Amino acid sequence: MSVERHLDGKVALVTGSTSGIGLAIAHGLAKRGASIILTGFGDEQLISKLKEDFTSKYNCRVDYIPADLSKVADINELFTSVIKLYPEGVDVLINNAGYNHVCLVEEYPEEKWDDMVAVMLSAPFHLCKRFIPLMKKKGWGRILITSSVHGMISTAGKAVYSAVKHGVVGLAKGIALEVVDYGITCNTLCPGFVDTPVTQKQIKQFVQDEGISLEQAKVDFVSKRQPTKTFIEPEHIAEYVAFICSPYAAQITGSAMPIEGGWLSK
Ligand code: NAD
Repeated sequence: MSVERHLDGKVALVTGSTSGIGLAIAHGLAKRGASIILTGFGDEQLISKLKEDFTSKYNCRVDYIPADLSKVADINELFTSVIKLYPEGVDVLINNAGYNHVCLVEEYPEEKWDDMVAVMLSAPFHLCKRFIPLMKKKGWGRILITSSVHGMISTAGKAVYSAVKHGVVGLAKGIALEVVDYGITCNTLCPGFVDTPVTQKQIKQFVQDEGISLEQAKVDFVSKRQPTKTFIEPEHIAEYVAFICSPYAAQITGSAMPIEGGWLSK
């Protein structure tokens, strides 16, 4: 199926794009013509394989800039490196990097709380703060933050994760109002379970707790929560992001979009 290249000439920075949802989003944007800046953890071999994949599939410009988003110094270096490549900044900013640590609040390691907040709430703030003035000059921009279904509800053991994911929903709503006169939109994504390393860790725990096979655990784990009974594919999210970055989505701003197989309808 051919797709419209509505992002020709645009630049997208996608955090957490060395794996899972972020990588799929980067592919979706490159397919529409965007130049891509990848960032996230990964060894040299993985990064060169990822870059090669983008170049051969889309013939697009792709750069990789390493950064540990729990550190403001790294975020500053990331910003400086992007500006060296693209002095006018980026057109699309996808704040997606993250992970989960499932644990009751009373036992939650305090340094984990700090890290979760730093990576998933503070980093989007720092990146938005730095890139928005440049987007305003361009008079166009698309900002997305990956929240979660846990940006709307919570689960025992995920209080910290949901606190952070609720936080970015509020952040995006406020930003949406601040940039509304500049052709910029800001939205959050609220996925249910996607089969990525973040979920695989939880499923392994489920296998142990229930004493069942990995195959059975995958079915039970998802069916318990998502009425569709199947995992959400990273591409389902990526295609929605591609739409949000199209001219047809100019009026969608401040939204928190559930992509959760009906979980929230129960
Ligand atoms: P993933 O493990 O496949 O990808 C996570 C990405 O974030 C990787 O590129 C990793 O290198 C990067 N990252 C993690 N910590 C980082 C740090 N300190 N600095 C820089 N980069 C860092 O997992 P995923 O499922 O694709 O997760 C992406 C986002 O989606 C996360 O914010 C996660 O909370 C959210 N999410 C995931 C699910 C799910 O079911 N998988 C559901 C809802 C929301």
